[in-house]
Amino acid sequence: MPKKERTFAAKLAHEARSIVKETCPVCGKERVPVVMIASITDDRGNWRPQRRRVKLCDCNKKQIYG
Ligand SMILES: [Zn+2]
Repeated sequence: MPKKERTFAAKLAHEARSIVKETCPVCGKERVPVVMIASITDDRGNWRPQRRRVKLCDCNKKQIYG
């Protein structure tokens, strides 16, 4: 059991290191990754949701949130 816990902690530490904060060069604000749902319609007219990952900062906040 202790061995497993150590492995889990190591995994967490690794993931924490892999998160890199990104700053927008235009507005200077931190870019926050968000998942937005866009509605798309295919050739047959069927509606389906599409998940898109976007990096959000002051530059695109208005066009994403309206
Ligand atoms: Zn920006």
